[in-house]
Amino acid sequence: MTQRIAVLGATGSIGDSTLAILAEHLQDYEVYALSGHQRLDKLLKLCQQFKPKRVAVPTEAVDDFAKRLKQAGLTAEVVGGTQGLIDVATDSQVDTVVAAIVGAAGLPSTLAAARAGKRILLANKEALVMAGQVMIKAVKTHHATLLPIDSEHNAIFQCLPATIQQDNTQIHDDSHGVRKLWLTASGGPFLQQSFAQMQQAGVAEAVKHPNWSMGQKISVDSATMMNKGLELIEACHLFDLPESKINVVIHPQSIIHSMVEYSDGSFLAQLGSPDMKTPIAHALSYPQRIASGSQPLDLYTLSGLEFIKPDLQKFACLRLARQAMQAGTQATIILNAANEIAVEAFLQGKVRLTDIASINEQALSEVKASKLSADADIDDILAIDSLARHYTESLVRQML
Ligand code: NAD
Ligand code: MG
Repeated sequence: MTQRIAVLGATGSIGDSTLAILAEHLQDYEVYALSGHQRLDKLLKLCQQFKPKRVAVPTEAVDDFAKRLKQAGLTAEVVGGTQGLIDVATDSQVDTVVAAIVGAAGLPSTLAAARAGKRILLANKEALVMAGQVMIKAVKTHHATLLPIDSEHNAIFQCLPATIQQDNTQIHDDSHGVRKLWLTASGGPFLQQSFAQMQQAGVAEAVKHPNWSMGQKISVDSATMMNKGLELIEACHLFDLPESKINVVIHPQSIIHSMVEYSDGSFLAQLGSPDMKTPIAHALSYPQRIASGSQPLDLYTLSGLEFIKPDLQKFACLRLARQAMQAGTQATIILNAANEIAVEAFLQGKVRLTDIASINEQALSEVKASKLSADADIDDILAIDSLARHYTESLVRQML
């Protein structure tokens, strides 16, 4: 049967990879809905190519985009804003939601998809960082399916026993013999450079990732290793493990995408070219396999694979992520919000790359939020998010 897909964040890097796979498998998948935020010319081209039934754009762009679709002879319904994204994510015709919006903006639609019992292909790690418990509870209560497409989490998923995969990836305890998870990190563009060199880095150097081609925000997060910090928090929620059971190791070649260590001494790893099409194709077709279009690894030309312990002074964001995870959800919300503001300030040339960690650290210690209760909901989460954003914005203003 054809799987009907909504790609939220269709104009981004994950959107590109997802649609490149879908274009090769249109007999099995229907592109039912698309969303885009900034690059609406690109969204229009995607509409011409995939002819979705529904399209979500910012509220202020609805009328104009509907006009442009009509001029192009297309009949898709255009919806707007956060509610539009939620409508698309919960549409009864949609089987699978690809959650590929960047940042906190992706949370409401991802959570709505969980509450509507959808199959969710999760790229938007910020949704779990901000609302891990709420998301996982919604997935369980509404019998949704959460399939990670962040490459590390997808690799771990592939290395776990089928019983855990089918129990929404929750490991809970060591009854399956899982001793630790190992998240691999490339170390980003500054791995071989000193802190002083990192301090001087401009935007172009910071977003130039050695192995992966990605959106701007996640590229900066990779340069500071905040990305690995967010992924650590994402993994705690996804796999129901404390942060102490998750190790991070720098593996500059990005060939091993992560590992599961078992109590008998086995380490299971997933390998592949650094291309997001592999984890996306895995999740799209799970439990089957489809061609992804990524280049197979050429093992004969691979030289050494290296593994390095991260330097937590140079990459302080990784230390902050562990600290926040230990402190509780209110702290991971603050860290995520502060980081979004700090990254944006760096991209606008207002602060240095190395200021991002200090801004995040200051927000973590200065923003006061009480511990969230187990039944906290999205409004409680967004209130802390907004508090942290305001604090961080004023901190950035003081630094100018
Ligand atoms: P990107 O910047 O290339 O694309 C982001 C998408 O989100 C675009 O379609 C954009 O229009 C949309 N968007 C941005 N702001 C929005 C808003 N306020 N409201 C609605 N839509 C908005 O980002 P990306 O690299 O594709 O990353 C997307 C998500 O996937 C991020 O959460 C990232 O951490 C995660 N991820 C990306 C990669 C990767 O290789 N690119 C890998 C793993 C995880
Ligand atoms: Mg990743």
